[in-house]
Amino acid sequence: MNLDRLLLANMTQPQAEEALGRGTAVLVTGSIEQHGAHLPLGTDAFAALAIALRVGERLDAPVLPLSSLGVAPYHLPWPGSLTITPATLTSLMLDVSAGLSAAGVDRVVVVNWHEGNTPAIRVAADKVQAAHPMRVIVAEAHVVTHGLFPDEMEFTHAGSMETAAVLTHDPSLVRLEELAGGDPVQEGSDGHALFRRRDVFPVMKDFREVASSGWYGTPTSVTEERAREIIDVVAAHIAGSVEEVWKALVERRSEDSQ
Ligand SMILES: [Zn+2]
Repeated sequence: MNLDRLLLANMTQPQAEEALGRGTAVLVTGSIEQHGAHLPLGTDAFAALAIALRVGERLDAPVLPLSSLGVAPYHLPWPGSLTITPATLTSLMLDVSAGLSAAGVDRVVVVNWHEGNTPAIRVAADKVQAAHPMRVIVAEAHVVTHGLFPDEMEFTHAGSMETAAVLTHDPSLVRLEELAGGDPVQEGSDGHALFRRRDVFPVMKDFREVASSGWYGTPTSVTEERAREIIDVVAAHIAGSVEEVWKALVERRSEDSQ
């Protein structure tokens, strides 16, 4: 299945004008950061892209990888990990939305696979919605994946869920033969849970506070075939949810104006 035709950059100008004129654009946000010796640095970027392409197909919308780089300062202790500031990600989204709006887009769907990006995406969405006649809908693809398959798709770092996503994107990038280290899953989960609290929580500074080795989880538990099945279900769920949320939003807006 070649979905690359959905990438805005692969379209000619007339194709892009027609596609964007239908009103919806899918933006992709990920991260370039360490995922042990068995997964590539671009795991979050590839995971978001694999799902975004399948969402774009279902929404009949062009897909634009906004930034492979994400906000990930806490992975910098491992060379190769890179970060951008929240302000950079916010500016990028606001800048790009001007062109999308001018082309007729009024609905931006952000497919994200990196927790560190979320605050910047929300700030960017406020700015985009204030500056242009556009609404932003955010899909936290990693949250959806874990939520739909809580037992199979563990919410770890570089474990089964992220391995599944990279297997779907490009299986040659998964190097399970290099698998090394990894903190005990329970210890890593407990550490992560501290930063994932919703009531009173610390802000992560160094991922070693979660897992001293940089990763934890069980990356060997998923096959390529099962990974593709799961990612397809995730994309269908996101596309369906976007339509559901959009419909509810439009109904509420028309009630407001009566
Ligand atoms: Zn990741």
